[in-house]
Amino acid sequence: MSGSGSIHHLKSREFSTLYPSALENVELRGALAFGTKLVSNRRDNTVAAVDDWQDLRDRASAIKADVMSNLDHYLETFEQQAQAVGTHVHWASTPAEARSIITGIAQQHGASLAVKSKSMVSEEIGLNEALEQSGVRPVETDLGEWIVQIANETPSHIVAPALHRSREDVRELFARVLQRPMPEDAEGLTEVARLELRQAFADADIGISGANFLVAETGSFLVLENEGNIRMTTSLPRVHIALVGIEKVLPRLSDLDVFLRLIGRSGTGQKLTSYQTLVTGPRRRADDDGPDEIHVVLLDNSRSSLLGNAVTAQTLGCIRCGACLNTCPVYRQIGGHAYGSVYPGPIGAILTPQLAGLHEASQLPFASSLCGACRDVCPVKIDIPEVLLHLRARSVEEGPSARDAVTNKKIRQQGGGFRMWSWAMRSPWRYRMAGRVARTMAWLAIRVPLVGRCAGPLRGWTAGRSLPSPPRRSFRSEMARRRSERRS
Ligand code: SF4
Repeated sequence: MSGSGSIHHLKSREFSTLYPSALENVELRGALAFGTKLVSNRRDNTVAAVDDWQDLRDRASAIKADVMSNLDHYLETFEQQAQAVGTHVHWASTPAEARSIITGIAQQHGASLAVKSKSMVSEEIGLNEALEQSGVRPVETDLGEWIVQIANETPSHIVAPALHRSREDVRELFARVLQRPMPEDAEGLTEVARLELRQAFADADIGISGANFLVAETGSFLVLENEGNIRMTTSLPRVHIALVGIEKVLPRLSDLDVFLRLIGRSGTGQKLTSYQTLVTGPRRRADDDGPDEIHVVLLDNSRSSLLGNAVTAQTLGCIRCGACLNTCPVYRQIGGHAYGSVYPGPIGAILTPQLAGLHEASQLPFASSLCGACRDVCPVKIDIPEVLLHLRARSVEEGPSARDAVTNKKIRQQGGGFRMWSWAMRSPWRYRMAGRVARTMAWLAIRVPLVGRCAGPLRGWTAGRSLPSPPRRSFRSEMARRRSERRS
């Protein structure tokens, strides 16, 4: 399966122009600091209470490794089992194919209104625009997703789409869009959204969702949520369509035991999400509710091209919990929109270039300090820094034509820096001299009128932060001084 085709929101050539304005946006940084810290703290506390957390991570990582080694087998098993319970299964190699399948189903049923529940894959393929063009009005029903939809924005976080907006922000947005005064409190605003969305649920012809997991053994899909909107999206309209990346398949129903214990804790710091909806085929005669027709669209979009390499295949283990975003020192400062792609943060920095092609997002593998915090919190033990370094190396190997001008410049600067570093490290004398020069330059930099700012190629280092004062002595001279003190 190949992943070519018109990729809609899955590219990022603007990182270098977007992140400086994000850094200067004080309100945005306040909302990000509040949201990410709150969720990270909750996650840390909940995880600390689980004795076998590392064991769970190992088990999840092993299940995902098995899935990636036998993906074709598990997907075919899923297809057979899903068809056996009456679900229609469709395969889409490209975003264009997935859009065409979904709009085709909508047209076949004469649909004019679709209720949607949060699906990053539908953002990835630009589904809403395709639905609108085919005469179907899509209404997002997740509160955060509805907020960004009426604001004409894209989600800034894979779990909390409106994380970048404060309550006051949302109040002003509702008042402007709905043309009436709004309550001050979060509960009142939620009630406004609830009443607006209720009518959409009642009128919708089709429901569209993503899925957290597919279960090969039973042909089921599982969706997790806290608001109840997915339960309504999957049960009220007569036709339901689940759009899912092929990597979401798990072999057995019992595997959910491992992943359900990991995903809620990692994503929101909850032991379990408020709702877990497991859908196995359309409504049966004895069922009280549920759709008469269910379609599952399995999207590749270059995912299968990551399977041939053990480093890149790790990326497909992601369960989209969002923990790496919340802990990332880069994401916490600039938020999701600065990445310019539907998938932001550490997972976006590795997923976007691999799905869209390095040439479409060549800056993203460099949008990281490689601190490793993402690797430490990842419930499926994806070594994101390892994948980032792999992509950086590929970026250099593939040459300047595979990259944009900003990335080329950065690689040239880093290459020059590393050559100088290598030259200095090969001689003790040169190493000492380099240390002296660096301390003198740093001392000068914090005393020039642009306090704490470097100039020339080092300017990027201090564009968003102040240069710390250099120590009076080097580590070597301080050690020598202490040694001589001890001797005397
Ligand atoms: S990479 Fe790991 S931490 Fe990040 S969203 Fe995916 S599963 Fe969660």
